[in-house]
Amino acid sequence: MAKLSIQSDTDLILHLPLRYEDETNLCLINDVVDGHIFQVEGEVIHNEIIYRPRKQLIVQINDSSGTLLIRFFNFYLNQVNAYSVGVRIRVLGEVRRGFWGIEMVHPKCRIVQNETPLADTLTPIYSTIAGLSQASIRKWIQQALVQMDHWGGLCEVLPSKILLRYQLLEFKASLLLLHRPPAGVSITSLQARRHPAWRRIKFDELLAQQLSMRLHYQQRRNNNAPALTPKQSLIDQLLCALSFRLTAAQEKVLTEIFQDLAAQQPMQRLLQGDVGSGKTIVSALAALRAIENGYQVAIMAPTEILAEQHYGRFTSWLAPLNIEVAWLSGSQTKKQREKALAQISTGKAMLAVGTHALFQDQVVFSRLGLVVIDEQHRFGVAQRLALRHKGDKKALVPHQLMMSATPIPRTLAMSYYADLDVSIIDQLPPGRAPIITKLIDNSRRAEVTQRVREACDAGKQIYWVCPLIEESAVLELKTAIETYEILSQHFSDIRVGLIHGKLNALEKSSIMANFSKGDIQLLVATTVIEVGVDVPNASWMIIEHAERLGLSQLHQLRGRIGRGQEASLCILLYQKPLSKIARERLRIIFEHTDGFEIAQRDLRLRGPGELLGTRQSGIPLLRFANLEEDTDLLEAACDVAEQLLAEDPKVVEFYLTWWLASKNALLQV
Ligand code: ADP
Ligand code: MG
Repeated sequence: MAKLSIQSDTDLILHLPLRYEDETNLCLINDVVDGHIFQVEGEVIHNEIIYRPRKQLIVQINDSSGTLLIRFFNFYLNQVNAYSVGVRIRVLGEVRRGFWGIEMVHPKCRIVQNETPLADTLTPIYSTIAGLSQASIRKWIQQALVQMDHWGGLCEVLPSKILLRYQLLEFKASLLLLHRPPAGVSITSLQARRHPAWRRIKFDELLAQQLSMRLHYQQRRNNNAPALTPKQSLIDQLLCALSFRLTAAQEKVLTEIFQDLAAQQPMQRLLQGDVGSGKTIVSALAALRAIENGYQVAIMAPTEILAEQHYGRFTSWLAPLNIEVAWLSGSQTKKQREKALAQISTGKAMLAVGTHALFQDQVVFSRLGLVVIDEQHRFGVAQRLALRHKGDKKALVPHQLMMSATPIPRTLAMSYYADLDVSIIDQLPPGRAPIITKLIDNSRRAEVTQRVREACDAGKQIYWVCPLIEESAVLELKTAIETYEILSQHFSDIRVGLIHGKLNALEKSSIMANFSKGDIQLLVATTVIEVGVDVPNASWMIIEHAERLGLSQLHQLRGRIGRGQEASLCILLYQKPLSKIARERLRIIFEHTDGFEIAQRDLRLRGPGELLGTRQSGIPLLRFANLEEDTDLLEAACDVAEQLLAEDPKVVEFYLTWWLASKNALLQV
């Protein structure tokens, strides 16, 4: 049980069958259909061990309608004896048509008497592990159902008007049905999880998730935050100094953010915008609103390269306004770090930029008013939730602005992001030339190298991305280092640079600075440049082994180019043979540039785990509901959650305790 991570009765009864076998009726041998599963019964008429083509036990049975051949490749001697001529056996298995007529290989098989009754329910098959038989797991689950029912754990808590409106089956009836479906229930609808009983369980799971996310949201709303009201001067000064005007979309989200900041409850807003849509300046303007109110701002980025770049950009925007910016990263010297900590704790620095080093306990802000988290999807849901507890004990809680370039499909936003308000920048700054994407077989590398040569001669700046995966004979991946060596030999007169995760922060930042300035023309890189890096002059990108990368990664990488006025080109080199899913990914990235479209397809391809970044952080995902298929249930759960929170605190409590008691507790409140 522990290995199946079943720890309670709740876990047991939510251990729902993978599939079912129908032992409730018998089929005549003559009536079976190829490729389908049937149960038949007959008398053994022949029993023999043969050795060609390999050792096997052959048993032939006969009913009133015909003959069936059964093969066992692994068998015990006592089976040979048991299935002897004249014995009646009942077998269940998939039917195939072989050379000798219809046959079954390794069917489920037992000896029966003439009057042995048929099962009256479908037989559930559970996922299990070696040593735990289906029979015992079935027994345990049945016991748990009785136990839970006994103390009222299966009673219906939803008001009947809700059951009626959304056509939901009762909870207990649903569970009982799923564990022991009566004869006649469609196995297809059970296994496809479309049966009303399944829909009820999925609904409850979604409802519990809604309730828990919304309670999080409400609880945070109950805190006090500093009301950051318009003072204007700083913001106008920065706007005047910019070389561009905000897009209408940027202005719209800024209005939403300013409105939140002016309130006394902490903002919990997710700012979504495709790569290159200009989120950074929006966060800078939000930061100024806090600063002009006398509050500090923390800006966190997931990688050192990005944090460093933000540090540079924020300094160039804020230094002219006489605002001091502190910089904190994991790889600083002790002295630098102490200086930064002092700047922050004395309040001398109004803005602090850094990696997650910013959120260690030693970092004490003097008056923190706003926290900005860039590329928040890289941090995962768990970290997001952990973060917002920081400072909960204090009187005032800072506002939070999360930014993400991974557009979140609507269903994900409604479920896993139900604890956030969302603003969307749905427009790119004007004047961007579109990116042309090409898919090229790795066997044509030489041509690509030649074109890169010509582009360099024409003064273009180029990224050459090599996914760096641990050296492995099997994967045979060219590492960035090898590529760098080959390319710099090949292009001896071109300035080639190399950047990868193993370099220290200083090396990385000087390389990025050189690339930014144009001193490096061809930058060989691992996917460390994937998030946030902004060098508008770079207009070409070559991605090696594109077939190995996920969709959002490809989209993020490609988003590093197409930032300037110049026409951009992204060449995806792929290595054959392509798996089906890799082919699909490449097709999608080739056909689409819109991040939202790509994310939607990604969700379909991979499920929510990857998009949420929760794989690493260990937050359990929905087990039963499928966001793509169960959209109607999700919508219903949203409505019902709202209603229950307003009217029925007892039911809310019941739901949370019940579902949080399970190992898959979505979020602890
Ligand atoms: P992202 O949303 O991916 O974080 P950035 O904030 O890095 O995008 O912005 C991408 C580039 O677009 C930057 O060079 C930025 O200065 C520029 N930019 C932002 N807003 C505008 C605008 N309204 N007009 C022109 N360029 C802009
Ligand atoms: Mg960014």
